[in-house]
Amino acid sequence: EKTPVTLLGLGAMGTALARTWLAAGHPLTVWNRTPARATALAAEGARVADSAAEAVTANTLIVACLLDDASVDEVLADTDLADRDLVNLTTSTPAQARARAEWARERGARYLDGGIMAVPPMIGVPEAGGYVFYSGSRELFERHRETLAVPAGTTYVGEDAGFAALHDVALLSAMYGMFAGAAHAFALIRKEDIDPAALAPLLADWLVAMAPAVYRTADQLRSGDYTKGVVSDLAMQVAGTPTFLNTAEQQGVSPELLSPYFELMRRRLAEGSGEEDLTGVIDLLVH
Ligand code: NDP
Repeated sequence: EKTPVTLLGLGAMGTALARTWLAAGHPLTVWNRTPARATALAAEGARVADSAAEAVTANTLIVACLLDDASVDEVLADTDLADRDLVNLTTSTPAQARARAEWARERGARYLDGGIMAVPPMIGVPEAGGYVFYSGSRELFERHRETLAVPAGTTYVGEDAGFAALHDVALLSAMYGMFAGAAHAFALIRKEDIDPAALAPLLADWLVAMAPAVYRTADQLRSGDYTKGVVSDLAMQVAGTPTFLNTAEQQGVSPELLSPYFELMRRRLAEGSGEEDLTGVIDLLVH
């Protein structure tokens, strides 16, 4: 017998989640502020509740996938969460997630927070590699692990309800750094007779080849020895920065995405050792 699920929120993500539970044979109750978004799912077998309160009454496992933390507040305000298993997949900050966990506890609910590392087309497609970070009640995670694994992979990151959001934001922040670097790279060739489509595979392969450097960074952070396994030391890399800045200038490209990182490298070199890796930059960021 498949665990019945109540799902609040049928946006792009909620609808994708709903389809996977229906396809896997889980009895599904849905509710959405705009009822029209539930019509197609009703035809696919979902039960449509008239209110959020009714949807919450229908099942023990309640999954919320709403726009933001404020909408979670609004939707759950008039519901009875006593003895419910609330899994909140709404993107939030770690502080919002921790406050929401406390808020749920006060209402007699168990709480698990989630951070979705996937876009809707990756939901229900295991080979796409999407997954969800979970944090909060470990007991709740274990109890519903199988049901939660239907739409996407599951990665539990700790009892602190804020950790799923923190992992989510950490990974996405690194992604934006990568996008920023790629934007600068494309800008450099923009005015030349170089096909962006020819640069793309070179860029993608290079980024993938460099990505494992994060393991060395982690190793250095753990040991406290920032020279451990260093390949290209800080002194050498700082010495190389004029080449990057001069090339940008010659190509008529603003250095504004690169400069802040170079500035941190220079500060670390001035305060620390040239034999270190780039890891010391992290200490300059943390207040
Ligand atoms: P959508 O904008 O498609 O849907 C938003 C949902 O929230 C709708 O169901 C909407 O209802 C509902 N909603 C918004 N405000 C309120 C409110 N005040 N009261 C009641 N319901 C409200 O967003 P997604 O489905 O794409 O995203 C949902 C969550 O998933 C977000 O937290 C998002 O960050 C996260 N996520 C999304 C990803 C994506 O690529 N889409 C990727 C990873 C995470 P209505 O239909 O009535 O407007």
